Amino acid sequence: SQPILTVDNLEVAFSFPDGEFSALQGISFSVEPNEVVGIVGESGCGKSLTSLSVMGILPRNANIINGEIQLNGKDLIGLSNKEWQSLRGNKISMIFQEPMTSLNPLLTIGKQISEVLKKHTKLSKEERKKRTIEVMKEVGLPRTEELYASYPHQLSGGMRQRIVIAIALIGEANLIIADEPTTALDVTIQAQILELFREIKRKRSTSMLFISHDWGVIRQICDRVFVMYAGRIIEQGTVNEIVNNPKHPYTKGLILSIPDHKKRGKELHTIPGRVPTLKERKGGCLFVDRCANAMKICKYEYPKSLEIGEQKVSCHLYTKEAEVI
Ligand code: SF4
Ligand code: MG
Repeated sequence: SQPILTVDNLEVAFSFPDGEFSALQGISFSVEPNEVVGIVGESGCGKSLTSLSVMGILPRNANIINGEIQLNGKDLIGLSNKEWQSLRGNKISMIFQEPMTSLNPLLTIGKQISEVLKKHTKLSKEERKKRTIEVMKEVGLPRTEELYASYPHQLSGGMRQRIVIAIALIGEANLIIADEPTTALDVTIQAQILELFREIKRKRSTSMLFISHDWGVIRQICDRVFVMYAGRIIEQGTVNEIVNNPKHPYTKGLILSIPDHKKRGKELHTIPGRVPTLKERKGGCLFVDRCANAMKICKYEYPKSLEIGEQKVSCHLYTKEAEVI
């Protein structure tokens, strides 16, 4: 079967008064049917920018310079606003970290969830309400009739995020993109929302792109994961492989910094240094200033992506060129 989403060699750049600066480069990945694919990396590595590119909602000064994005085999780059409107909420939905970003404070919950049906189906008003109440129950909202007529500010953060998830589900999108959907919530609520995502995965088999900086979250929900660093995918594979046998020094550092109850009391590993800003990014491996394994070649040549088993990794530790030097 064909992938739900294919991103091929995507490059995105920001225009500033002093020039164009590349923010994403050579981004290639796919999301298969019934698959949850995670994106991890520190902030500023391009996780959100990747998902905004797929949703066609890049910031004004960001442009797609190169590459292809296909949803169910249909090109997304270059669609008109009208075509985008018929896709968003319908074929592809996005859930942000802060639920109020996607909710309208002036509209009732019922109106906001059923809006998708009004826009994309021919259902009657009664049918729309019936479906809306069903989806509200599915995402674990209580007192649905009462909530239907409430406004977002009357609800807790966790309930609001459930409503955003209901909006994403009601159109039966082929792909849901969730960008740190639990990060803004209290720890206990985080666990509940994550459990809801797991349930959706189990019952609906929806394909998802799931962005998180939290490996605990990634491990619980994702099948495959890719690791981003400074606008590039530096490693990808199944969650098991990546967590148990990371290949790239950056991934190794990230895995070592996962809090582990067995290591309690010991100091947590942190990767020294920081992600280079857009303007600091040059040729070569962008992790070079933070990498304990750095070699001469790393500074001037970007390592091409190599397949090692089912993993893909971009690092000179694994390339032939590195051995020559
Ligand atoms: Fe380190 Fe070189 Fe690999 Fe980059 S390419 S991660 S600098 S060893
Ligand atoms: Mg982000």
